Amino acid sequence: MTKVTVKKSALVCGAGGFIGGHLANRLKQEGFWVRGVDLKHGEFENSTCDSFILGDLRDRTFAEDVIDHKFDEVYQLAADMGGAGYVFSGANDANVMHNSALINLNVLDVCKNRDIKSVLFSSSACIYPEHNQLDPDTPNCAEDSAYPASPDSEYGWEKIFSERLYLAYNRNFDMNCRVARYHNIFGPYGTWTGGKEKAPAAISRKIALAQDGDSIDIWGDGLQTRSFLYVDECLEGTLRLMRSDIGEPVNIGSEEMVTINELAMLLIAISGKDLKINHIPGPLGVRGRNSDNRLIRKLLDWEPQEPLITGMERTYKWIAAEVAKQQTAGSFTV
Ligand code: NAD
Repeated sequence: MTKVTVKKSALVCGAGGFIGGHLANRLKQEGFWVRGVDLKHGEFENSTCDSFILGDLRDRTFAEDVIDHKFDEVYQLAADMGGAGYVFSGANDANVMHNSALINLNVLDVCKNRDIKSVLFSSSACIYPEHNQLDPDTPNCAEDSAYPASPDSEYGWEKIFSERLYLAYNRNFDMNCRVARYHNIFGPYGTWTGGKEKAPAAISRKIALAQDGDSIDIWGDGLQTRSFLYVDECLEGTLRLMRSDIGEPVNIGSEEMVTINELAMLLIAISGKDLKINHIPGPLGVRGRNSDNRLIRKLLDWEPQEPLITGMERTYKWIAAEVAKQQTAGSFTV
């Protein structure tokens, strides 16, 4: 008798985005039947999803249409978000809160109605209180430091509201939602121009466009600290968390903290160019931030391992190639 194997199914909300696009590919490699949903197709890669549906998850009816059966795993990564220039300028606050909250309210409630238990929510290090991140050398981002809540952006406030929403559904509707607090994920196939890009991509683009002897602009004095996690390690942590029994929010980030000046110097060294750094005013976010991996080490017996330079080399190479492609096509605008 032939054994019929039924594939497990996964839904990736935000599959046209950076992390969602990588995640959908990874789930396909694992043998899942994958549906991706987004407002847009992935900009840089052909989707490998079995089904990719364009549409707006703020629309409840659309959410009901795409979440049409009991998916084994749902990854909710869709959000109205961007780097510091988008999130900290203040100009997008209302949209960020309204749009992302509506997406989470719809997706989670429809999942509950379809009896889906496993939903992973992509929260952020931006939920941590500003007053714990004033010192660039010793920021506190331990999971239990989140309360009393005092994020420095409306993006962070929406994330903390939605974290609580997912945890409330766990309690009241017997779901197994997981909450990942991502810390600055980077890698190829992310946004690198247009205003929503984050520091590693923005700095890489500036370097790729510069000639020996030029200066590249860095917002602020460059002494603010951050850590950055390569996307493949983010996916590994995400899948491990999803398939664990951890019902509390967990950091997924790197503990290799650098200043923005150090990041810029690393990328300049990778490029092999002779460039200087020019500091200009710009939106900055908190003074210091680093992942605290004590909880993930304890609960998952795992943490990211790859040194920053390895992922940055891959990312710079990819962005430099994209810049060169657009320059050749004559379509590049800064
Ligand atoms: P991204 O912007 O590349 O992807 C988000 C996707 O959501 C986009 O493709 C966008 O089109 C889609 N989207 C937005 N509104 C939608 C709507 N109404 N309906 C359907 N799709 C919609 O971002 P990313 O870097 O891939 O981040 C994924 C998730 O992880 C987000 O929730 C983000 O807040 C979170 N996160 C990311 C980082 C990071 O460093 N990249 C850090 C912390 C948290």
